[in-house]
Amino acid sequence: MRQAMSEAKRTTVVIGAGIVGLTVALELQAAGHHVVVVDPGSPGGRQSASYGHGAWINPASVMPTSLPGLWKQVPGMMRDPVGPFYISRLDMVRLLPWLLRFLWAGSSWTKVETFARQRFELCKGAVEHHAALAEAAGASGMLRREGLVTVFRSREIFARGKKDAAIRESLGIQLGELDAEALRAREPDLADGYTFASVVKDGAYLADTAGYCRALAALLASRGGEVINGRALDFEFDGDRLAAVRTDNSRIDCDTAVLAAGAHSLPLARKVGDRVSMASERGYHVQITGAAAGPRHSLILSDGKVAISPQPGGFRVAGQVELAPIDKAPNWRRADIMLHHAKRGIPALDLGLPEVRIDRWMGHRPSTPDGLPVVGYSSRSRHVIHAFGHGHAGPTMAPATARAVAALAQGRTPAIDLKPCSPRRFRWFNRA
Ligand SMILES: Cc1cc2nc3c(=O)[nH]c(=O)nc-3n(C[C@H](O)[C@H](O)[C@H](O)COP(=O)(O)OP(=O)(O)OC[C@H]3O[C@@H](n4cnc5c(N)ncnc54)[C@H](O)[C@@H]3O)c2cc1C
Repeated sequence: MRQAMSEAKRTTVVIGAGIVGLTVALELQAAGHHVVVVDPGSPGGRQSASYGHGAWINPASVMPTSLPGLWKQVPGMMRDPVGPFYISRLDMVRLLPWLLRFLWAGSSWTKVETFARQRFELCKGAVEHHAALAEAAGASGMLRREGLVTVFRSREIFARGKKDAAIRESLGIQLGELDAEALRAREPDLADGYTFASVVKDGAYLADTAGYCRALAALLASRGGEVINGRALDFEFDGDRLAAVRTDNSRIDCDTAVLAAGAHSLPLARKVGDRVSMASERGYHVQITGAAAGPRHSLILSDGKVAISPQPGGFRVAGQVELAPIDKAPNWRRADIMLHHAKRGIPALDLGLPEVRIDRWMGHRPSTPDGLPVVGYSSRSRHVIHAFGHGHAGPTMAPATARAVAALAQGRTPAIDLKPCSPRRFRWFNRA
């Protein structure tokens, strides 16, 4: 039996060492808990979505994925061999309950506005929070506060997103703009066809997504926390009190547990009474090292829906949404679509050079139908707290989640309203 309980401090087990688990763990530690993070892989390792995402920490990431009329675009996206979305017919049937909830969540602009307001609260302060953590972890160089740029073929194409712009404006989010000349000065290798960019001026990106997770784990350990290897399997209760988290190789005594296992959280959530609607929106990346051309800063190609970001030794092209069961084998053709977009965005990119290396990766976005994470007390006990389901925006929403979880763990009222994030909201179709 593993004895992690400390006499003086409350012991909290955080299940999952992705960006959400680590950010939560550090907040709980700052609040005086002894924290044990448990994960079968290494912090921010290849098994986690936090290893290979698009690197954006975007305070303007308020729009949910499901929007009115989106379904009309789906057949076109599926027919396009380099399109951003794919689901097989069989998986469509398998994931039907999630898909229906997803369509319902985006069935009116009123609903979308409500979700956007809630997402806004979860995105607020993300860059500042990560900057403070990065500094404490000696990793300030990994957080680049250079603004986030989305490039378009023309200003007219950007201007078609009128509804998005109105929602952002209503929340006080102002985007900057770059004309063709300014864009060229910022990104000399970008294809000439991109002549306009919108800019989230206070956005930032992680220049080493996996390294940042490792740095956070090291910071936690340097302050007396523990990061241990193991797969959490169940919770042990003594009446209403949480007694321990059981893993495949140990039993960890604790007072509180936080479930932050990303897309893998569902079986454990069920053990504490919560049937959550969540699917893996699989995404892919290619990481290119040794190339002569590439981006100077992070950017999104709006037409390919891919993020291109400098990473150690080169750069990464990340994107794609493939809805499929979590245990299905990767379809590496989806990763190769990233190469197509890389070459289209950066025409001087020569992937044939002998020194060029390409690494392909697939990861699971833990996605709820309404684009909001699951944050709150479990149904079984206030000593098990959920912190998963951050979909496309885990790094961005991790800080607000961490602050809310720390408040819940201490019996305080969180600064943000967590009702929309309730694990119990999937019992009925959401009537926002
Ligand atoms: C291609 C792609 C691009 C993306 N781009 C962006 C972006 O630019 N900006 C952004 O904000 N977000 C982006 N995302 C989303 C982001 O990656 C996720 O929201 C985020 O990484 C989720 O973090 P997490 O900590 O919840 O989950 P993960 O990072 O997946 O971590 C979960 C951890 O739990 C562990 N675990 C699983 N089961 C157990 C168990 N039983 N016991 C213990 N541990 C367990 C896993 O091993 C894993 O380490 C992107 C995602 C993808 C795939």
